[in-house]
Amino acid sequence: MATIHISKDNFFHNLNQLALKAGSKERLAVVLKDNAYGHGLTIMAGLAAEYGITQAVVISVEEAERIRSYFDQILILNGTPFPDETFSFAVTDLRQLSAIDPAARIELKVDTGMHRNGIVMEELEEALAIIRNRSLGLVGVMTHYRSADVLSSEWYWQKKNFETVKQTVRSSGFKNVRFHSHNSAALLRSKHFNEDMARVGIAIYGYNELPEVYDPVPLRPVLSLYAGRTSTRHLPSGARIGYGGDYTVAKSATVSTYDLGYGDGWLRGDAARPYVTAEGLPILGRVSMDFISLEGDREVVCVMDDAQAAARHFGTISYEMTTMLSPSIPREVV
Ligand SMILES: *Cc1c(COP(=O)(O)O)cnc(C)c1O
Repeated sequence: MATIHISKDNFFHNLNQLALKAGSKERLAVVLKDNAYGHGLTIMAGLAAEYGITQAVVISVEEAERIRSYFDQILILNGTPFPDETFSFAVTDLRQLSAIDPAARIELKVDTGMHRNGIVMEELEEALAIIRNRSLGLVGVMTHYRSADVLSSEWYWQKKNFETVKQTVRSSGFKNVRFHSHNSAALLRSKHFNEDMARVGIAIYGYNELPEVYDPVPLRPVLSLYAGRTSTRHLPSGARIGYGGDYTVAKSATVSTYDLGYGDGWLRGDAARPYVTAEGLPILGRVSMDFISLEGDREVVCVMDDAQAAARHFGTISYEMTTMLSPSIPREVV
């Protein structure tokens, strides 16, 4: 059976490293959106809470409800605000503001350059005026960087824009508003983190997508993916394996079928350029919806123990490798 192992030691190691960067674990909000980047929402919420993390970020109310009991504060990135002691809601559009229940807790997202979500800077004063006039519950002001992971000056002008936003909010008389802008890349890059909170996603799972010139913070992959053997056969030289018979056995070989495929969120890739498992076994022929073939007859194989390395093979990023993994694969903490 395909299974995912979650390493508690590695997760706690990453949280230690990130808490050092942020100044304390109280300043870390763990980003658990999209089934905790494929790691398993409630498992990761439970471990984060056990470590002492008190804040989380998710995409939907549905996700937030499932982890409510683990955290003091949960920020919902894409949901309609309603009054709640634990939940706060990112508000990303000026037009939303006139309809929000004043008892709801909201965090204004400002577009400082990514141009995807958030109130544009030119509308900030108008947004603050509506918030004041309607006595809305503004508890935070946030932004998101488009290029914190790229070696360029881009990050700096966006940071400067956010400083301007902070000044505008403060000089408009708002108090008890928290400011946050850092994702993993920004936190890993920053030398003197001084905001109220960092929203860390990919780094808690053990990946640093920054170019190597930055001081590397040692992180360890939390997830590893295993597949189980469903059958074994001894094939003669010249036998061809899988759809299209793309792989031809050179010398007679023992070949086994394992229960992982693109139906589980594993990438199909290109049979002519096979992925090599964590244990050094190339996938033989095409990946099927639910099965792959590997040489040998081991009962269980570790397909992946480093999603960043796998991502390089498939021409994608660690985020996609893990987030695609089907929620139906059993996850266990080791
Ligand atoms: C996903 C997300 C993050 C986390 O980003 P990482 O690069 O995984 O650290 C932070 N903030 C917002 C608004 C996000 O959507």
